Amino acid sequence: MDKNAAISLIGELSNAFGPSGFEDDAVEVLKKHCAPLGRIEEDSLRNLYVYRNENTGDKPVLMLDAHTDEVGAIVQAIRPNGTIRFLLLGGWGKSSLPSSRVLVRNRLGEYLPGIVAAKPVHFMSNSERAGASYEVTDLSIDIGASSKEEAEKVFHIGVGEPIVPAVDFECDEVHGLLFGKAFDCRIGCAALVETLKNLTGKELPFDIVGVFSSQEEVGERGAQVAVNKVKPDIALCFEGAPADDTFTEPWLAQTVLGKGAMLRYMDKSIICNPRYMRHAVELAEGENIPVQCAVREGGGNNGAMINLAGNGIPVIVAGVPVRYIHSSNCIAKYEDFESTVRFAVKLAESMSEALLGSL
Ligand SMILES: [Zn+2]
Repeated sequence: MDKNAAISLIGELSNAFGPSGFEDDAVEVLKKHCAPLGRIEEDSLRNLYVYRNENTGDKPVLMLDAHTDEVGAIVQAIRPNGTIRFLLLGGWGKSSLPSSRVLVRNRLGEYLPGIVAAKPVHFMSNSERAGASYEVTDLSIDIGASSKEEAEKVFHIGVGEPIVPAVDFECDEVHGLLFGKAFDCRIGCAALVETLKNLTGKELPFDIVGVFSSQEEVGERGAQVAVNKVKPDIALCFEGAPADDTFTEPWLAQTVLGKGAMLRYMDKSIICNPRYMRHAVELAEGENIPVQCAVREGGGNNGAMINLAGNGIPVIVAGVPVRYIHSSNCIAKYEDFESTVRFAVKLAESMSEALLGSL
């Protein structure tokens, strides 16, 4: 894998605008990078499908999925003072919102800078200073307009326009660290692209369809449509997975930076096929590819929808550990990305009818 090309792909995807339902820009970046890798299709939900050039059409199908949307927000209304009342698209952590820089798309398709307004301490009541709780709808996004009319006529802001964090990707090459927004799941999208790239020209036991699915963060919606179209026999979902190593006792931490892809036995939405999981873990061990296994109390992912489609489709999830997921700023490690791609390539090569029969 070309490290510099991979990091620049992660950066390009991380910077792309694309909250749930508005994934267009991220999809354009992916189309550009996937064009040489296979036949491309797109549907009205902005799911993007890549059918590998080497597919024969008469083999079982392995679906590789990653979701293109990021957590963001949407304009609900403009207040008389020109600030924006917004709702969240997906689970953007409320505590990380105040004082965040954002980009608001306007009716002309331009991206305007704004901030999630935090009331200066000078104007706070005693309880506000003590950190009293607030609702997202108590917050505003300020683009600098001074009236509703100005926001509409001069800034061209309208109801229903999407909003994302304004964060530029950065790479600390010395320590192999990646900083940016939207690593959930753009780092997974980049892993899918690199996996397809690494498999180019190889004859594989199964046909492969790469799916970049939309609207995961609002309830795995794109994947429900995509799985019906692709009708896979087996699947692998890539994710940016919430790293727990800065919050959890070492003995309990299961998504640690630098320890490879997190393979989850369970989260709130799915129990991953245990026979498929065992195959994956043994494969990784045999190939000396670091992976870490997790049993998660919460969370959810596209695997849940794929698992319950058709006659029931075996699926596992490989998540690149990402610190501070669902906030404006994330940290991930390049070596985890690289080992996740190596794992996915080996997994694709390991497919067999016998494996399918054993699941
Ligand atoms: Zn995700």
